[in-house]
Amino acid sequence: MNETAFTPPGTRRARAEIDLSALRANVRALRARTPGAAFMAVVKADGYGHGMLPCARAAIEAGATWVGAATPEEALAVRADPGVPADVRVMCWLWTPGGPWREAIEADLDVSVSALWALREVEAAARQAGRPARVHLKADTGLGRNGCQPSDWPDLVAGALTAEREGLLRITGLWSHFACADEPGHPSIAPQIERFREMTAYAESRGVRPEVRHLANSPAVLTLPDTHFDLVRPGVAMYGISPSPEIGVPADFGLRPVMTLSASLALVKRVPGGHGVSYGHHYVTPGGTTLGLVPVGYGDGVPRHASGAGPVLVDGKWRTVAGRIAMDQFVVDLGGDLPEPGTEAVLFGAGDRGEPTAEDWAQAAGTIGYEIVTRVGARVPRVYVDGGSPEPGPAGDGRGREGYGPGQQGGGPYGSAPA
Ligand SMILES: *Cc1c(COP(=O)(O)O)cnc(C)c1O
Repeated sequence: MNETAFTPPGTRRARAEIDLSALRANVRALRARTPGAAFMAVVKADGYGHGMLPCARAAIEAGATWVGAATPEEALAVRADPGVPADVRVMCWLWTPGGPWREAIEADLDVSVSALWALREVEAAARQAGRPARVHLKADTGLGRNGCQPSDWPDLVAGALTAEREGLLRITGLWSHFACADEPGHPSIAPQIERFREMTAYAESRGVRPEVRHLANSPAVLTLPDTHFDLVRPGVAMYGISPSPEIGVPADFGLRPVMTLSASLALVKRVPGGHGVSYGHHYVTPGGTTLGLVPVGYGDGVPRHASGAGPVLVDGKWRTVAGRIAMDQFVVDLGGDLPEPGTEAVLFGAGDRGEPTAEDWAQAAGTIGYEIVTRVGARVPRVYVDGGSPEPGPAGDGRGREGYGPGQQGGGPYGSAPA
């Protein structure tokens, strides 16, 4: 059923199509908003669920010169990818004591330091590696999460400068992160920018000469041009998702959602009125109707909180999840329609073919678009397409043809480097 050269067996149940040409176009659109700043493609958490390495490569093709990740393991996997040129800077910021500092230094990563414990570990690792580390000092300008408090900043700056003079590291960056940039006009925004200016000015007055100062995440890229400094770090916008409904919809910024999550109906059947549907019988058919079984569930990352609410496009019509979303499947009431088993059910996509978007699912589940795409599970194969059609086989030019390989189908959190 529906078998073509481009629907290999593993994708029949469900698939997440990743449109790399949309990702490239999004990167170009964001770069056009940030003239004068370099572009860091943020690909943490498996590229927000889109596949870390294919997205990193596509972003680089579109002009990203930095790639950002949360964990050192993610950044090391990016660096190990032959598709990532050696002159692309790769940075990671979520370190814990005993982390792989030495491997990071040897892999020429840029690392982040928020506290003296991390500075001491970097210094020791640089001695072992026999080469200087590239270090970004992170300021807590108000987020209250990672980063160095203003009161501790002089000690951290002084310690880093001493280590720089000893040849153990180079302070390549000064940076911070916003708390509420996705809420335009939030009273924390202006003070954070002000504190960032003060903390970078202090470091520079002591002799720090960073290559880059950087602050802007997606919402700041889209709405706060005076925060772009030398480098911007957008994540979610690159995947074509708006950081928040208050900021706007993706099309307002020339962005297009990159992921389309769909499944093939596993069963279509007639049922009488008064029939309970799925665990708990939270939906009861109002009259005789037809039900469609969608073979994805929370085991695939479909949020159970969207039970009774999540929208699905089937045969040109929006249907709503009927009753509970289970681990592997959920049901939609098809209102008497009888599509063939195997008919495509689109949970979300770009939205311009009538399908719901990740934002619609976020609203249905009481969460944010970020979470909807990021949680799509390893059991759902990623199928990489370019320009809306699946990447062709040997007839194509081979670029970006990362799809279908076992590493892309439910592999580890980092995808896989090509063999
Ligand atoms: C995730 C992350 C980003 C990207 O955030 P978006 O809102 O997705 O653009 C930037 N910087 C840091 C430190 C992050 O953790």
